[in-house]
Amino acid sequence: MGGAAAVVAEERLRFSTVVIDAGHGGKDGGSVWNGLVEKKLCLDVAKRVEMALKSNGLKTVMTRRTDTFVELERRARIANRVPSSVFVSIHFNGSRKTIISGGEVYHRSPRGKWLATAISRSIKSRVAGGTRGIFYSNYKVLRETEMPAVLVECGYLSNKREALRCADPAHRQKLADAIVGGLLAARRKE
Ligand SMILES: [Zn+2]
Repeated sequence: MGGAAAVVAEERLRFSTVVIDAGHGGKDGGSVWNGLVEKKLCLDVAKRVEMALKSNGLKTVMTRRTDTFVELERRARIANRVPSSVFVSIHFNGSRKTIISGGEVYHRSPRGKWLATAISRSIKSRVAGGTRGIFYSNYKVLRETEMPAVLVECGYLSNKREALRCADPAHRQKLADAIVGGLLAARRKE
């Protein structure tokens, strides 16, 4: 089985809105490798996710839509005002071990783990480079948000081959579509 059918019913979540959190911004560029700046890619993928969710009839809230610095606490506060929501933070990775590549999906709460599982599965089946799987993390945006929350690392900019992929808008669209596919697979339809 693939796609939506692979997520069992008890692990589906009720939500009408997705809070999309583009990582970094402004003075905080995030990872910079191979001529790519993380904050720009995060915002690009976030906007693609926003568009795809809207075309699937879901509501969205962005924690930033421009190249501005937003404190982590503020991102969580913005999210916590949104009823019936889930939270997806979008990042790209970097490591001195430049051989490492692939996406990673982080969770902290049990329901966040369901969401992470669905998104990781979706990325694995749709995106070149796939994912390294799901991981527990105590990241602030996961800790301070009250709804099911995940942080998606879309790939390692420090890996030459992955950096080349991430520089391509078509690849970033696939990443966005895969994130949305995971969100829809994890959603309980009424
Ligand atoms: Zn980041």
